[in-house]
Amino acid sequence: MEEPVVIIGGGIIGASVAYNLASLYSLSNIVVLEKSRVGSGSTSASLGGFRHQFSDETAIKLTVESVKILNEFESSFGYDPLVRRDGYCFIASKKDSLQALETNRALASRLGIDVELLEDQELQQRFPFYSFDGIIGGTLCMADGHASTLAVLQGYVSKAKTLGVQFYEGTEVIGMSTQNSEVRAVVTDQRKIETSKVLIAAGAFSGLVGKLAGVDIPIKPYPRKILVTHAFSDSIPIEIPIIVDVDSTLAVGREGSGMIFADNEPVDSTFELSFPSDYDARVILKAVKRVPSLSNASVAYSDEGLYELTPDLNPIVSEIKEICGLYCCSGFAGHGFMHAPAIGRVMADIMMEQKTQIDISKYDLERFDSDKVQTSERLII
Ligand SMILES: Cc1cc2nc3c(=O)[nH]c(=O)nc-3n(C[C@H](O)[C@H](O)[C@H](O)COP(=O)(O)OP(=O)(O)OC[C@H]3O[C@@H](n4cnc5c(N)ncnc54)[C@H](O)[C@@H]3O)c2cc1C
Repeated sequence: MEEPVVIIGGGIIGASVAYNLASLYSLSNIVVLEKSRVGSGSTSASLGGFRHQFSDETAIKLTVESVKILNEFESSFGYDPLVRRDGYCFIASKKDSLQALETNRALASRLGIDVELLEDQELQQRFPFYSFDGIIGGTLCMADGHASTLAVLQGYVSKAKTLGVQFYEGTEVIGMSTQNSEVRAVVTDQRKIETSKVLIAAGAFSGLVGKLAGVDIPIKPYPRKILVTHAFSDSIPIEIPIIVDVDSTLAVGREGSGMIFADNEPVDSTFELSFPSDYDARVILKAVKRVPSLSNASVAYSDEGLYELTPDLNPIVSEIKEICGLYCCSGFAGHGFMHAPAIGRVMADIMMEQKTQIDISKYDLERFDSDKVQTSERLII
């Protein structure tokens, strides 16, 4: 039997790459090593949002390709991804923030995506439940929306399994052997697997896993928390776009028949899913100011998970040149779900040394070498 290709991390990214390696390249020996349960990492916290509004052209192209795959997902994978086009609306109170949104809009339009520019009065008319006091305008894209993270994950995992991919749950990678700058083996808490091709797809833990091979992968964990209310209508339509104030960082939207809200104020990097003691009160106060009827709602639960951030807020989708046979596909911040379908294919192509469908060279790990200029993604929510 041929040597296995080893994927470290059974999240949406690892599952998508595993499926694509098996289906596009007919590899018969792929193992996915997952220290906990498949999908239990950041993937379990994803709200399933997808958007075409970014400051980075590559990110928009990845959404376009991923949405094409989602549109065909049920016939290809047997799982309905429950796509709904409920939109993303970004709003701003500062002139330069609105200018940045307009620039994103121009970029999206150039790529064939329709994004509306709305003035404050238009926003108020369209979304009367929200108080746009002090907001000077925003952008709305109704090609943006949501899908079921669980259904898409399950689709990739099930299909990958039928193609022979093996998922080992409860299997933690604790070491890696290299020789002459080449990968030789992966060591787990249960056994040693000899291999010459390894993908690090360990989400927020990818920096730690990189260290096992002696390489620096600059990905850090940042905890995020979303508050979800009980079923709530009070004149708010059941389908509304997620409204994100880029200046206050407040995001308000729907999750089923409940409302969700969160903010994105900077926090220190930590693996602990711990939050300042005033987090809930602060976010509730912000949300009620913008959506006054939320004062009649009660929080049912919170959704917590780690964002995995690189210094320029773009992912690393790359071979690791220091060690032949080692690759990294991580650091997707708040958009790993929406890019997983397209990225799975791109990463499979990179690992098999084939030309990628989308030019992904700007996500190369080498961009963090000191003499290179990095362009940051400006729209992270
Ligand atoms: C609150 C929240 C909301 C979000 N909402 C959205 C959204 O609406 N849309 C969107 O596109 N994205 C969203 N995201 C981001 C998205 O969830 C992530 O970008 C995506 O899930 C990353 O997938 P992954 O496979 O890279 O990482 P993960 O899902 O974290 O998978 C990595 C896996 O690696 C495993 N692992 C780690 N170390 C080891 C080891 N040593 N050995 C074996 N296994 C290991 C972990 O257990 C984990 O299961 C959200 C994230 C959060 C936190």
